[in-house]
Amino acid sequence: MNLFTETNLSPDILKAIGELGYESPTEIQKQTIPFIQSDIRDLIALAQTGTGKTAAFSLPILDMIDDTSRKIQFLVLCPTRELCLQISKDINNYSKYMKNIKTTAVYGGSSITDQMRSLRDKPQVIVGTPGRVIDLINRKALDFSEIHWLVLDEADEMLSMGFKDELETILRETPETKQTFLFSATMSKEVERISKSYLTTPHRISVGSINEVKKNIKHEFYVVGYRNKKEALKRLIDANPNQYSIIFCRTRMETQEVADFLMQNGYGADALHGDLSQAQRDTVMKKFRLKNIDILVATDVAARGLDVDSLTHVIHFSLPDDPEVFVHRSGRTGRAGKDGISMSLIKPEESRKLKQIKSTTKIEIVEKKIPTGDEVMSAQVKGVFEKLMTEHENVFEFDQNLVPDLSNFTKEELVIQLLQFQLKDFALYYKDKQDLVDQKFNNRDDDRGGRDRDGRGRDRDRGRDRDRGERSDRGERRGDRGGKPRQRDENMTRFFFNLGKKDQLKKLDVLEIINKATSSKGSKRAEIGNIEILEKFSFFEVEKSYGKELLGNIQSMKFKGKDMRAEEAN
Ligand code: AMP
Repeated sequence: MNLFTETNLSPDILKAIGELGYESPTEIQKQTIPFIQSDIRDLIALAQTGTGKTAAFSLPILDMIDDTSRKIQFLVLCPTRELCLQISKDINNYSKYMKNIKTTAVYGGSSITDQMRSLRDKPQVIVGTPGRVIDLINRKALDFSEIHWLVLDEADEMLSMGFKDELETILRETPETKQTFLFSATMSKEVERISKSYLTTPHRISVGSINEVKKNIKHEFYVVGYRNKKEALKRLIDANPNQYSIIFCRTRMETQEVADFLMQNGYGADALHGDLSQAQRDTVMKKFRLKNIDILVATDVAARGLDVDSLTHVIHFSLPDDPEVFVHRSGRTGRAGKDGISMSLIKPEESRKLKQIKSTTKIEIVEKKIPTGDEVMSAQVKGVFEKLMTEHENVFEFDQNLVPDLSNFTKEELVIQLLQFQLKDFALYYKDKQDLVDQKFNNRDDDRGGRDRDGRGRDRDRGRDRDRGERSDRGERRGDRGGKPRQRDENMTRFFFNLGKKDQLKKLDVLEIINKATSSKGSKRAEIGNIEILEKFSFFEVEKSYGKELLGNIQSMKFKGKDMRAEEAN
């Protein structure tokens, strides 16, 4: 049953939202719809994007609009063009079966004459950004004399974007008899001030503490110095394969820098910030919505208009100053009933800021270590299987004869080879990579001395330690190879093999050759150990009891026309 039936909404609306798949009202809708239907007071609603607030205010108002009148009755103001388009699209969907109701969106960055032309259709509903609404008022293209309902959506954001004067002008231009609904994610001083000046004894609704709304988000933080931040970000992304995420940065420059770094490293990422033209922003957002890219690097303001429900992660590349912004950013994931993860990269000197965020928001944020190369590789292997299990559709057809005879391989051998093939680049990148964990980060609350003001002093030392660490690590390994031989399995024999990389020999080929050369013992296969392919020759290990058979057979076999020769290695 559609639980919206209890809300007294008209059949036209119920039909439209039923088609959109809305089955039961969200928390903000449960509280707001009956209030708007029955009360004449103004309203302040504390709710974030993603809580269903657009439907919360527009469904009951749409039902009350006089569709025989062609005057503007319902005005929604919102901060960005993207949000404006989103809200007007939602309202159009909700009023799909209300034939006489028309909605027009008016926003900057688009032709004002086109918008004036569509206003000639006499819409009853206007959704607009404050700047463009003022322009249209000045051109006498908007008649607000019959406005009954005014919604200020994302009021905090409109004020922080500097629309204060515009909002006050519009509030003065609209009739005093109107009912004003202010929606905001945060109750900043400015929002409080505007509501005191322009709202009359407002009723207040809050969908619980913001934290309660989003219990399904896990919060993690990772301590890393400035110098290693991008590398740490790379590891977090690599250790969480198949993610669809937004990375938040503080400035436009930082946003572009991080996006460039990711793109140069082969990730499907792009930047979204205010230095881009509107057309560029639209393209990036479209790519992200269509999942042509799966990582969006954005500033807080630019990401506002983006309505995406299925984000798996939010990464705070830099912490915001305002704890509420942290909550708001994190709330972009964990939507539509899904779980979400919010990960913060914290510089050691930011522990106080983190504490403040924790204590203001009451969010539990757990410290985690930057994943090691091994951890990244394990996550990648898991990720391949996860993807395999969830996306096993047949996208294309191919001639089955193209598949070579694989009967000589076990299922496990094939899986291993495919994984090697798929994850080779990651494996090569993380081979010999030093961990980014540094003991000096522990006790950071009481070990703050000796750092220069921007906190880079210790990072520089750390960098040197890291370099030294990498060098000594490599040195040790070299020594290891030249000195003590590697511990071998007693049951295996190591063979020298006359072919190598120059003969285009791959591990898969060696497996095939060994299997062929040891196949006379019925179904039981020889165990195969380490395979090392060098430039001109190779080594491999085979179960001892198969040694003779292998040596006997291999000399009569050929690889790409070349004779094969194997002998027991010393
Ligand atoms: P909003 O907070 O208005 O941006 O809405 C967030 C998302 O939730 C949008 O994609 C809406 O279409 C969707 N939505 C709103 N109300 C409901 C509901 N009652 N059931 C399911 N989805 C909803």
